[in-house]
Parts: sequence; C-alpha cells; structure tokens
Amino acid sequence: MHEEPRVTVLRLGHRPGRDERMTTHVGLTARALGADGVVLANAARNQADTVVDITDRFGGPFDVSSTDEPRKLIRDFEGRLVHLTMYGEPVQEVEADVREAHAEGPLLVVVGAEKVPFEVYEHADWNVGVTNQPHSEVASLAVFLDRLFEGRELDREWDDPDRVVVPQETGKRVVDPDDE
Ligand code: SAM
Repeated sequence: MHEEPRVTVLRLGHRPGRDERMTTHVGLTARALGADGVVLANAARNQADTVVDITDRFGGPFDVSSTDEPRKLIRDFEGRLVHLTMYGEPVQEVEADVREAHAEGPLLVVVGAEKVPFEVYEHADWNVGVTNQPHSEVASLAVFLDRLFEGRELDREWDDPDRVVVPQETGKRVVDPDDE
C-alpha cells in the first residue's frame, strides 16, 4: 500500500494542556491505520516525540513533523484535501471519489481539535462527516482511513521494528525480531 500516493494527516488546533492525549492519538492512529505521516500544528512538540518514539520501537516508515503555519501548508499542498468534520458530506457517499483521487495523487487529511477556521472548509476538496454526529478526531480519522484503504491497512507490515507483537488468543507476547 505504500507505493500508493502519500496520505498525510494534519492535526489542527492543538491546545497545550488540553489536547495532549488526543493529539498523540491522532498521530498514533494515523500511523497504525496506513497514513504515511502526520503534521502537528502549533506547539505539539511532546506529542511529536511520542509518535516518533513509537515509530522507532514498532517500525515505520512514518513521518512526523510540526508546523507553525498550517494555513500555508493547506494553501500550498500539492494534492487533494479532505477535511473531517461532523458538518460534512457522509463518508459513505464520497469515499469512492476520494479513493479515485488518491489513486492519482497525494491526500492531506485535516482534523481539528476545537473550532476549525472556515478557510479550511473552503479549501477542502471534500468536507467529510463520519456520521453527522459530534464525536472525535481520532474516531473519524480511523473510520476514514479504513474506508480509504478498504481494510488493506490492517495487513500492513512494518520496516525495522525493535519489537513485534505476536497475536495471542490470551495474554501478551512481544518479541525482538532479531532474536527470532
Ligand atoms: N464542531 C466540531 C466539528 O467541526 O466537527 C467538533 C469538534 S471535535 C471535538 C474535533 C474534531 O473531531 C473536528 O475538528 C473533526 O475533525 C472531528 N470530528 C468530530 N466529529 C466528527 C464527525 N462526525 N465526522 C468527522 N469528523 C469529526
């Protein structure tokens, strides 16, 4: 799946002191469910470190960066832009169009924390609702990525992990692949 055009997630509106875990979980969910990288806007440095640390331990590739100019990133992005919002068009109605566009070029998937500037709605090629009910950026990102990749992300393999979880019916087993 990683020969496909890139999918980058942009996390907007991080509020220090309030959104730490959610921002970290946006990054981890983006990585686990098939995106190629996350960009964290505005002072989310510790959260970036956590996602880099997980990538180091559990494998990559996955790019983590931050920006103080998210609006510029949105304006200058060379590809199509998806904004996840409860006010958007139902994901089940637009997913085929988004998949078709992704076959042709990169996608930027934007999620918010608090109120997202109207400019983002205007710049988006698709404002996408995962239901039109309020819930969370982590949940909407997970469902959206799974629809985009049609489940292929669940079988992904990782490069250079220090540790690999061996699925168990009961209990936990984590191995160092170099010891196997
Ligand atoms: N009123 C906000 C909105 O625009 O969706 C809700 C803010 S919510 C706490 C934070 C983020 O979660 C939103 O910016 C959006 O990215 C995501 N989100 C929440 N509910 C969603 C839904 N039903 N569909 C898609 N994304 C959603």
